[in-house]
Amino acid sequence: MWDQNLIEKYNVSGPRYTSYPTALSFNKDIKRILLIDKMMTSSVSTLSLYFHIPFCAHLCYYCACNKIVTKQQSKADEYLELIEEEIRLKSLILNHDNKVTQLHFGGGTPTFLTVSQFQKLFEIIEQHFTLDISGNHDFSVEIDPRQVSPEQIEFLVSKGVNRISIGVQDFDLTVQKAIHRVQSLEQVTELMSLLRQKPIDSINFDLIYGLPYQSLTNFNLTLDKVIALEPDRVSVFNYAHLPERFASQRRIALDTLPNAKLKLDLLELATRRLLVAGYEHIGMDHFAKHDDTLAIAKSQGCLQRNFQGYTTHAETSLIGFGCSAISDINDTFIQNHTDMNLYKNSILNGQLPIAKGYIKNRDDKIRHDVIMQLICNLSLDINAIEASYGISFKEYFANEVLLLQPMIDDGILNIDFTTSSYTLSVSASGRQIIRCICMVFDKHLPQRAAYSKVI
Ligand code: SF4
Repeated sequence: MWDQNLIEKYNVSGPRYTSYPTALSFNKDIKRILLIDKMMTSSVSTLSLYFHIPFCAHLCYYCACNKIVTKQQSKADEYLELIEEEIRLKSLILNHDNKVTQLHFGGGTPTFLTVSQFQKLFEIIEQHFTLDISGNHDFSVEIDPRQVSPEQIEFLVSKGVNRISIGVQDFDLTVQKAIHRVQSLEQVTELMSLLRQKPIDSINFDLIYGLPYQSLTNFNLTLDKVIALEPDRVSVFNYAHLPERFASQRRIALDTLPNAKLKLDLLELATRRLLVAGYEHIGMDHFAKHDDTLAIAKSQGCLQRNFQGYTTHAETSLIGFGCSAISDINDTFIQNHTDMNLYKNSILNGQLPIAKGYIKNRDDKIRHDVIMQLICNLSLDINAIEASYGISFKEYFANEVLLLQPMIDDGILNIDFTTSSYTLSVSASGRQIIRCICMVFDKHLPQRAAYSKVI
């Protein structure tokens, strides 16, 4: 249910909670030895590997990612040598006998790598890890439809890649020119028909609302095309215009951007069109067809969330490779240098390229569980939290209970704190502002100004 007044009332800056605490709380002064010790003593059942491929052949003006714009393919050769050394260094301290059930290539543009570069990367990975492609695996790649070949797809599928995410953003040519990312409907259509001939379980489209020159009319036409192409999942992200932080965004003129009212209308349009077209609202900015594993996990109450967004496998330990990559092992976050020179120098000096990290304390773990339950299930089993941590919810979260009251009064949340058996549930009108509800439980929020608006 879309309630414009409530959305406007609660539309403040907030994190996306792909982790708790979020990366803004990571500490560059934390002792490396503590982080390394946590890695060494981790006991995990399965592994998730993330590889950050930072290269892009073209610059999209809206971009806020960690990337290097270049046409020189040799840069990727040099980078793969660094990745090889990073894998070797981490293998020395990690208990890496466990199977890899999740593998994700993000960027930048992962398909900047040629087939032979991908071959080399997989050879390195397979020397150190066992990739489990028995069926219960999620191996995914982000694809730029302007930079991908049938040979790359063939190779990736042969290695077990079964999920693809395509950066579509918007099909309107005026919008595409303004963001410096021109890609035709034909390119995406051809890519889709190629992918549909392969054993790929799920194809996601990324869309962005709030881009220059977007209107209800042209975005509606984009949605027509998206729906006709039938991706299994659609993500509808908010463009946050922060030119003081991201230099490329200074090339987008402020007066070409939709105002706050139009942005809300664009999101409402996308939500309505996708629901009518048979997609289910998974949460926040994600939609999936009813038979997609995300929708099934949601209906079974086992949806999870990690740095890649909603997932069905968050029980694994995440190990990130490449500049800016984050690892999440044994209640510890470790982030690599985001600056390529610092990353490179660390590796060449035989050191793990650690820039910062964070070790979760007990309070972080409790709040993590509360926030993840809310964001994944739109409800919180308070009795289960009390039993898991031996706390009285009303006492432990006395301040938060007070802060929740206006949301209860506004009909966003349902709970009766006067009974002993209780669940906090988010009403249909609260779905769009779930981040605001989670923010009540976030003890690390003073950095709030760094986040984008919830919508
Ligand atoms: S949006 Fe993606 S493809 Fe475009 S510059 Fe950024 S990382 Fe590269």
